[in-house]
Amino acid sequence: MKLRLSKTISCDLLILGAGGAGLRCAAEVLEKRPGTKVVAITKVAHPQKSHTSTAQGGLAAVDPKDPVDKPVYHMFDTWKGSDCMADQNVVRKIVEAGWDEILWLENRGMHFSRDMDGRLAKRTFGGHTINFGEASAYRAVFEADRTGKGIMDTLWGEVLRGGISFIHQSMATELLFSGERCAGAMVFCQKSGEFVAIKAKAVVLAMGGCGQVFKVTTNCRQNTGDHLSLAVQAGLPVMDPEAVQFHPTGIVGPGILASETLRSVGGILRNRDLEAFMEKYAPKMRELAPRDLVARAIETEIREGKGVFNQDHSIEHVWIDLRHLPEHVHRTQIPEVASFFKKFVNVDSRKELCPIRPSNHYHMGGVPTNSDGEVLRDPQKTVPGLFAVGECACASFHGFNRLGTNSLLELITMGRFAGQKALEYLEGELPELCGDIGENTFQTFAAYLQTKGQAKVGDVREKLRALMTEKVGVFRVEGGLREAVTQIAELKAQAMEIALVTRDLAMNQELVERWELDNLLTSAMLIATGALHRKDSRGGHFREDYPQRSPDLDSHSLLYMEEFGKVKIEKKPVDMSLFNEGGPHAEKFGMIERKY
Ligand SMILES: Cc1cc2nc3c(=O)[nH]c(=O)nc-3n(C[C@H](O)[C@H](O)[C@H](O)COP(=O)(O)OP(=O)(O)OC[C@H]3O[C@@H](n4cnc5c(N)ncnc54)[C@H](O)[C@@H]3O)c2cc1C
Repeated sequence: MKLRLSKTISCDLLILGAGGAGLRCAAEVLEKRPGTKVVAITKVAHPQKSHTSTAQGGLAAVDPKDPVDKPVYHMFDTWKGSDCMADQNVVRKIVEAGWDEILWLENRGMHFSRDMDGRLAKRTFGGHTINFGEASAYRAVFEADRTGKGIMDTLWGEVLRGGISFIHQSMATELLFSGERCAGAMVFCQKSGEFVAIKAKAVVLAMGGCGQVFKVTTNCRQNTGDHLSLAVQAGLPVMDPEAVQFHPTGIVGPGILASETLRSVGGILRNRDLEAFMEKYAPKMRELAPRDLVARAIETEIREGKGVFNQDHSIEHVWIDLRHLPEHVHRTQIPEVASFFKKFVNVDSRKELCPIRPSNHYHMGGVPTNSDGEVLRDPQKTVPGLFAVGECACASFHGFNRLGTNSLLELITMGRFAGQKALEYLEGELPELCGDIGENTFQTFAAYLQTKGQAKVGDVREKLRALMTEKVGVFRVEGGLREAVTQIAELKAQAMEIALVTRDLAMNQELVERWELDNLLTSAMLIATGALHRKDSRGGHFREDYPQRSPDLDSHSLLYMEEFGKVKIEKKPVDMSLFNEGGPHAEKFGMIERKY
């Protein structure tokens, strides 16, 4: 079977992914350089269906007029929350840019919630403190509990005004190069079944996360880790893939997110005996300790027999108690999440206890970049013309544990920085693509369509997701991780035996899922291998056999995987510029203890 290119199109800037990060980057370029031809690709039917639209709680930024909060406190919280694995140059740059971004969004019409005096309302979130851990900080601005929707509405309006073109329901399948420079991508258009090559002066990866690798996840259907596959296929590394976040409060069963806002407004975690157990694990911050700590506390309660078993959900859980919150809080601050409890588990959060359990939520690891969003080929060298922003990237603002509300902050600031840097590429000529354009994509898809065998996409996918949740979840241990790596390789072999029922190119959901399965397998292999290799505990990566942090592992890992399962690992130092530069608070940015 010979598959071929339908057409080649050209643009100035190609954005792969149209969520918050991609659109913020596009908006920056269109604002600074009107008339730029920007094309954005999205897997979904409309950019607004991107995952960012589901973000609930808010976005962190320090208001310069705040009488008690300061950027240095936010930097400290982010560093401490990261388990001393964030890059401090990135932390400083993002935190310092935060408030300007809030104003940027507000000036373009975002409807932030207001306090009684008409100022931007602010709420607390786990791990955000003032005065280096003294008390909770009111640092997150929000739009009720649908902040992501507000951001997406605003960004979408801006990029439309700037004349962006969208290609919907399409997937980037391969990065294209001109020598060392990234100069475009192959795109498979699901509706027409066509393969299109897009040439560009600069390319931005903004493809979101990889949560579908896990069975229980808060992530949307599209988050299949395509970006990790694209990177390793192009010979590029992936950084710290084992750094996976499990959110403490996934609604039991589907794992859908019940925002940290619930704990911010006063929700209390209770076990089977209705004991408020967080005091045992984080005496000072209790429910508002960072996510990794709260997730482990919940899992520990369940392991100790203090979970609740309800036949309807067939999985043990604990409760979040919201019954004591005033009516107006339910109505104005958590209406959406309350409706999720009603819809998915038929619970009225005003009167009943709500069942929750940790759920996979966020990928701190990803495609490595510098503080301008330029993708790294190795610890020293960038890939000309290629950027990565948002959850798919790893500039390492979050290190090994992201604080709530820091992701939306990261994606809009890094979107802006990458956009500014990408402008440097837009004045020159379009580079010529080299090699057989799209040949890897054609071979891959032709193989999917021709394979004869008994295996089914859905079966292999579900086995993989169950395996990852069981063996590479909140608690990890050598034996389980070894089994995971072996079994992922076996599942890859099974995937090679999948015969598709429908062999058409157009509107073939099974074909898309077959391609996504390979990306899930690649992502899983990188995560499990990274977790096996890192023999210590850091933030979301908790090794029961190595429960402490190891000073020998105070560095990032870059994983290269040109052949499935054959992983080469290099180290990259953690940037400690805030510590190394000295100054009045330098000691707060050393390898500090992590107690809450
Ligand atoms: C339920 C939920 C609530 C959250 N709430 C908060 C919060 O309150 N505050 C906070 O800071 N963070 C929050 N987060 C995290 C935050 O929302 C995400 O990290 C962030 O939205 C990711 O944005 P993004 O632009 O990187 O990716 P996304 O918004 O996921 O966009 C990715 C885009 O890439 C496209 N794409 C993917 N693969 C391909 C491909 N192969 N080809 C073409 N396009 C592709 C997708 O279709 C989509 O358009 C939340 C996360 C979840 C799951």
